[in-house]
Amino acid sequence: MDPIDLRSDTVTRPTPAMRAAMASAEVGDDQYGEDPTMNRLQSRIAELLGKEAALFVPTGTMANQISLRLLTRPGDDVVIGGESHIAWHEAGASGANAGVQFMVASPAGRFTADEFDSVVKPSDKPIFAPTTLVVIENTHNRSGGIVFPQADVLAVVAAARAHNCGAYLDGARLFNAAVATGLSLAELAAPFDLVSVALSKGLGCPVGSLIAGPRDLMRRALALRIRMGGSMRQSGILAAAGHVALDAGFGHFTADHANARLIAERLASTPAKLDLATVQTNIVRFELPAPLPDAATVAARAAAQGVRISVFAPRVIRVTTHRDVTEAQCRRAAEVVAAAITQP
Ligand SMILES: *Cc1c(COP(=O)(O)O)cnc(C)c1O
Repeated sequence: MDPIDLRSDTVTRPTPAMRAAMASAEVGDDQYGEDPTMNRLQSRIAELLGKEAALFVPTGTMANQISLRLLTRPGDDVVIGGESHIAWHEAGASGANAGVQFMVASPAGRFTADEFDSVVKPSDKPIFAPTTLVVIENTHNRSGGIVFPQADVLAVVAAARAHNCGAYLDGARLFNAAVATGLSLAELAAPFDLVSVALSKGLGCPVGSLIAGPRDLMRRALALRIRMGGSMRQSGILAAAGHVALDAGFGHFTADHANARLIAERLASTPAKLDLATVQTNIVRFELPAPLPDAATVAARAAAQGVRISVFAPRVIRVTTHRDVTEAQCRRAAEVVAAAITQP
């Protein structure tokens, strides 16, 4: 039996429809701006996000790094929530590429305008780093896929504007946030200068993210992508999968979220520490306080039963649902993981 792979929503394989569209995609040389399938995808994403223009990039990491370069200068302070992807999972890129330092507004992934204000440095003395950017991650991966409440988004970005800060939305899972809140992608993106979304996560495409924003910034984003070695050629092959995903709509996210919920409800009945209030989208995060077995042990036991899950910290596990797992597989996975936790 194939393993049930719940390590990430990036493990999805392109669907037969995506492969067919990729095989027959109309292409050109993107570095000359001549790939029609890519050009259409960029316009389509810009429109969905309510921005003037969008740029395809190979990864969400590159989207984050280009955005930092566009909105900050080396030595600046960037305000983030706790355990943000941009600080945790990008191999030190933010320091190496943009030369910024981070101020964590709250240990949680979400934070309030007051918490933002509490870490902004005064601008009247040269001893302080200039605070020039706030980054919001929505949904927030390491906090368990929580949605950043839109009222807080509006208040935080308003506070940021009051300090002349830019605002960037790391929306690798913005489609999940849209489905969970009923807000449109454009509404979620509206307060921000720049926003990124991933094709390669819940949408199930093989490769890619896009950044969207004002046309002048996106022109500079293209130059930065080239500078980072990210020139594209017949990238319509990749964009074609994105079109298929967007044509299909976001209905399957509802199933992904329901599957995460059923796994969480099963695990909440074990001694693991799991806050059901954090289970808002496709991610289930839980802790294994001693004397429970640690995360590596639970993951190894589950793997031996054909269920793959992610060790996030020595006593923290993440389980992520996606379009390539069925409800029945998620029910089975929940039983396997529950047994792995409670087995002496
Ligand atoms: C996955 C992820 C990224 C980075 O995406 P890659 O394509 O893996 O580089 C950025 N931000 C968040 C919130 C993510 O979950």
